Amino acid sequence: SVILAIESSCDETSVAICNNGKITANVIANQTIHENYGGVIPELASRVHQQNIVPVIQQALTDAKVNKKELNAIAFTRGPGLLGSLLVGVSFAKSFALALDLPLISVNHMHAHILAHFIDDPKPKFPFLCLTVSGGHTQIVLVKDYFNMEIVGETLDDAAGEAFDKTAKILGLPYPGGPLIDKHAKDGDPKAFKFAEPQIKDLNYSFSGLKTSILYFIRAQEKENPNFIADHLNDICASVQHSIVYILLNKLKKAALQYGIKEIAIAGGVSANSGLRLGLQSMADQLNWNVYIPAFEYCTDNAAMIAIAGYHKYLNGDFVGQDVAPLSRMEF
Ligand code: ATP
Ligand code: MG
Ligand code: FE
Repeated sequence: SVILAIESSCDETSVAICNNGKITANVIANQTIHENYGGVIPELASRVHQQNIVPVIQQALTDAKVNKKELNAIAFTRGPGLLGSLLVGVSFAKSFALALDLPLISVNHMHAHILAHFIDDPKPKFPFLCLTVSGGHTQIVLVKDYFNMEIVGETLDDAAGEAFDKTAKILGLPYPGGPLIDKHAKDGDPKAFKFAEPQIKDLNYSFSGLKTSILYFIRAQEKENPNFIADHLNDICASVQHSIVYILLNKLKKAALQYGIKEIAIAGGVSANSGLRLGLQSMADQLNWNVYIPAFEYCTDNAAMIAIAGYHKYLNGDFVGQDVAPLSRMEF
């Protein structure tokens, strides 16, 4: 089967092609227009998707050396995400499928982040636990099968990616700040500063207190030294990253013990974070876990993960009709 997949849930326009379970193209057009706004501006994001979608489709077909007449199905992200952004991808997918007389496959973006683990080897074995950490979500998911997943813990307020991005904004770094915090953290001391830890007993997370704790700390320090941020940027970034990673891994460990599972994966944009990747690896060594860490290109938003999810739905004959509509919030 040859499946073309479209991802447009946030600010990446991406198209991938999956040929019998192998990814043969994964084109990603990033949007730089949001850098100076401290976050994604939905209205601008949909306009840029609209400009990028046709060239990105053409590039993917060229990369995979596939003619559109050879396609067997069109997969697309139905949600969750920004409605205006989703509408561009969903409308294009429907029109393309109608024109080529192909079946349509609807994919949940959060399932796809997890199913990115089925692109390359080694693949996790069911059941496994996946910590999905992205710009809008922070979830510990019990994955029983490709499309049989249960959220066993999640954030009650901000997502981990938001914690990175909002801290970066406080530090005057451009959006998205997560990768920049990661970069500065490499030259800083993770124990330099300490921030408030959330006090939540179950497998849920909370990051809004941490953000406030960082903000008040910086404001207090700036009263003494107006150049505090510039003078201590690397140490601040290393300490913030250390705090977030510590919170994330502690609950993941709790979940692993509670469910008696040693197959452990991470997914989503924040799984690109070097502190999280290293921390997970050392926790795995201690607890005898088999860990699965995605290749960098499959951490942040990409259509390859939509294509692999689409491929498994194709094998199940799980198609949707032309009346399908995007969902900004979507049941897991
Ligand atoms: P969702 O998947 O919840 O709908 P999204 O699709 O916008 O949200 P992703 O593209 O999966 O999110 O991830 C983007 C997030 O990942 C941003 O918050 C970004 O700062 C963060 N991120 C990316 N790389 C890193 C890194 N190296 N360190 C920390 N955070 C990172
Ligand atoms: Mg993005
Ligand atoms: Fe995402």
